[in-house]
Amino acid sequence: MSQIKTNIEFVNEEIKKTLNKCERNDDVTLIAVSKTVGVEQINEALDSGIENLGENKVQEVEKKHPNVSKKAVWHLIGTLQTNKVKYIIKTIDLIHSLDRMPLAKEIDKRAKENDLVMDCLIQVNISLEDSKHGLLAEDVMAFVKEVSLNYNNIRIVGLMGMAPFEAEPEQTRPYFKKLKSLFDELSSLALENVEMKYLSMGMTNDYKIAIEEGSNMIRVGTGIFGERNYV
Ligand SMILES: *Cc1c(COP(=O)(O)O)cnc(C)c1O
Repeated sequence: MSQIKTNIEFVNEEIKKTLNKCERNDDVTLIAVSKTVGVEQINEALDSGIENLGENKVQEVEKKHPNVSKKAVWHLIGTLQTNKVKYIIKTIDLIHSLDRMPLAKEIDKRAKENDLVMDCLIQVNISLEDSKHGLLAEDVMAFVKEVSLNYNNIRIVGLMGMAPFEAEPEQTRPYFKKLKSLFDELSSLALENVEMKYLSMGMTNDYKIAIEEGSNMIRVGTGIFGERNYV
């Protein structure tokens, strides 16, 4: 059996065990993060049951999207430059990195032109590391309300966040707790075009902790495809 297939089965098993451990009976969406990974390996993942792919660069989406062997749900998980929205508006199913108003304005405009409603997650900077993009937690509520009010071709469907890398994954727990509580707070408001369905948190190093804290969408790259080779 291929390594990719083995890895996917392992992660799926870990997800199941973690859900059982915390007595949850809902599902966790596993996104295979295929940044830097070639089409051949992506196809292998799709043949091994993966249905969701995550990319962080527009250029990679454009290159791979037409060439994969199966239909998949495509996630844009990286920082999105405003001037590149037009290239992915028809290929990406869910944008995880909405974090500023000019970007919302552009997504709305391009979605309208293409007669679609774009699903977006608000990226929250929970780690407070400068290198991590996203809105500060205290600014999220006002931002969501403004997008809901002004941009009818955007549907906010949840939140995304990244914990800082910790050698001891247990230490990521407080960051995930914070994002979950913000998620619950937003869920309790009935805003137009806002439907808190997805809490995207957890990567290879920390997805089990994230699931324990309420994540229902994890983004796993290394744990599926192995260490990345950056060129
Ligand atoms: C690269 C990346 C991931 C996956 O990271 P791994 O540690 O390889 O699982 C998840 N989310 C985002 C936003 C990323 O850029």
